[in-house]
Amino acid sequence: MAVQKEKTPMREQKPEERIKNFKEVPFGYTDQEAVVEAERCLQCKHQPCVEGCPVHVPIPQFIQAVKDGNIESANQIIKSKNNLPAVCGRVCPQEEQCENVCVMGIKNEPVAIGRLERYVADYNMERGTSQSGDEELKKDRIPALIGKKAAVIGAGPAGLTAAADLARYGLKVTVFEALHATGGVLRYGIPEFRLPKDIVDQEVAAIKELGVEIKLNVVVGKSITVDELFEQGYEAMFIGVGAGLPRFLGIPGENLNGVYSANEFLTRVNLMKAFKYPEYKTPVVVGKKVAVVGAGNVAMDAARTAKRLGAEDVYIVYRRAKEQMPARSEEIHHAGEEGIEFKLLNNPVAIHAESGRVATMECQKMELGEKDASGRRRPVPIANSNWQLELDTVIIAIGQNPNPLLTSSTKDLKTKSWGGIEVDSDQQTSREGIYAGGDVVTGAATVIKAMGAGKTAAENIKKYLLAKN
Ligand code: FAD
Ligand code: SF4
Ligand code: SF4
Repeated sequence: MAVQKEKTPMREQKPEERIKNFKEVPFGYTDQEAVVEAERCLQCKHQPCVEGCPVHVPIPQFIQAVKDGNIESANQIIKSKNNLPAVCGRVCPQEEQCENVCVMGIKNEPVAIGRLERYVADYNMERGTSQSGDEELKKDRIPALIGKKAAVIGAGPAGLTAAADLARYGLKVTVFEALHATGGVLRYGIPEFRLPKDIVDQEVAAIKELGVEIKLNVVVGKSITVDELFEQGYEAMFIGVGAGLPRFLGIPGENLNGVYSANEFLTRVNLMKAFKYPEYKTPVVVGKKVAVVGAGNVAMDAARTAKRLGAEDVYIVYRRAKEQMPARSEEIHHAGEEGIEFKLLNNPVAIHAESGRVATMECQKMELGEKDASGRRRPVPIANSNWQLELDTVIIAIGQNPNPLLTSSTKDLKTKSWGGIEVDSDQQTSREGIYAGGDVVTGAATVIKAMGAGKTAAENIKKYLLAKN
């Protein structure tokens, strides 16, 4: 039988319909589509895809189970390594991870590993069979660790992953979360049309079923300190507080009414559930013309959200070129389909007001010059090329740094110049018994890298506690 060269496509909402709602864009595979896609996997002996996944999901094994029609077993295989498969199947940058090294991808499109992972996770969630089996869980328990207390700070993907693995080892795990809800960026950053919040709820519920306790509304560093947690009998700790402090451009006009950080904009829309209450319009007023500065996932999310809130003209303004845009290719593709206009090789230099509100953004045209330290060609300003873009709203999406609240209140915790926590290859910080991972260590990165760090930390906390006792 001839090899199917391309990934089995996933049906999705049409662009002209989806820009009027916040419902998820792709529909997911049917049973039949999943089997067709699973049949493309070559079941390679050396399994490069598994190495390409930061949490080492046993990819060929779960795909074989899909092929055999045993979707519950496929779920158990995935869950042995990944506690957030429905999330990862939707938002992982697969093209940089597992699918990037897929052997099928050498001559054809790689196997759609993420789509299959999503299919398996959704199938089992719909049938209430998504939890790992008792036998599977019992085998990870370590008698010497049962009942010992570990604290996890932050309920984002890094913290939730560390907590799940520590609970599997038999530890009594408490997660302390600053907000009134779990999930971190999965909850308040990534919009509903990419990651429905009931998916996050269900995956977090499954983690709680492992015995993890989650305490909400606790800002560690303010409500309680790390040292006070040690005094309360926690023997080890994982810090996964993310990078929630937005960066700004530092240009004139950034304090005007009508300028948001993407962080604030998306958090307002997500937590105030603008999409559920159309009769109130929205808690965020965007007007008709919106520019988003930046070209990562955050920028695409902000632009597509602005469109759904009623903006007519939405621009991505980015100082580099298309091939340098850091967002997932699927997000760029979807944004283009939804009518987002890309103003590439343009650098904002000032925001101007009329009656105290944003009226225009002044941009300078750029061209690509020599390569910089990151290996990308450096954007160079073109003299006398400034122009004005008429706007009602500007959203700045150029990255985030960690909030210094926790690090500045924890003595002897070494940090880098930009505020990230210093760790070694075991995710161990400069303080004994304290491990850290995710965006607070790397700066804004990806869900799966944060999860990988949480997993490595849990493994090393286990070793630390076993050596200590
Ligand atoms: P976070 O997810 O930031 O979680 C940290 C948690 O710690 C939060 O819940 C926070 O409230 C809590 N916290 C902070 N301070 C304290 C404190 N002092 N005490 C207690 N709790 C505290 N990545 C992808 O892979 N794919 C994508 O498509 C993608 N899209 C994105 C879209 C947006 C809009 C954003 C903002 C990011 C996106 N990312 C994406 C990046 C990804 O979400 C992050 O890399 C990932 O969430 C980092 O996980 P984390 O656990 O380190 O931190
Ligand atoms: Fe690929 Fe992400 Fe799934 Fe790992 S978790 S197999 S990187 S989609
Ligand atoms: Fe299948 Fe690709 Fe992994 Fe090979 S590399 S086992 S084809 S998913």
